[in-house]
Amino acid sequence: MELLKESERTLFFYVVVMKKRRKRRKTYDWQLEIIKGNTTAFYKSTDFDILREFVLERDHYTCQFFLGAWDDGIHKPHFIKPIRATTVHHIIPIKERPDLALDPDNCVSLSHLAHEIVEDRHRFHFKKKKKPITFERWD
Ligand SMILES: [Zn+2]
Repeated sequence: MELLKESERTLFFYVVVMKKRRKRRKTYDWQLEIIKGNTTAFYKSTDFDILREFVLERDHYTCQFFLGAWDDGIHKPHFIKPIRATTVHHIIPIKERPDLALDPDNCVSLSHLAHEIVEDRHRFHFKKKKKPITFERWD
């Protein structure tokens, strides 16, 4: 254990806890369930709960988007400040890569606001910005 880096040690711990908790419960093939469209069941599952806890701990319950530590390459934070993370977001959506649904490396801790932004839902909650006055065309 001493030879492991801290990140490896926490990942090792995650795998051990996951296996222990799994033993006591019915096991699900989440990859198959997600392919079948059972994503709600997945998000409500203990397996996701364990992953969620692990990722939030790893990221110190801090929103990685507004920390400037992570973005999706499309959206950028409009301020940089440590704020509390409440959500765990899958970087590659589970429907695209069901095999990565329980991979902590495919997950990042986000605040509610950052999550709405990266999922493109925020525009429904805020007033639209003024439209530009003219559209320039160069063709
Ligand atoms: Zn998400």
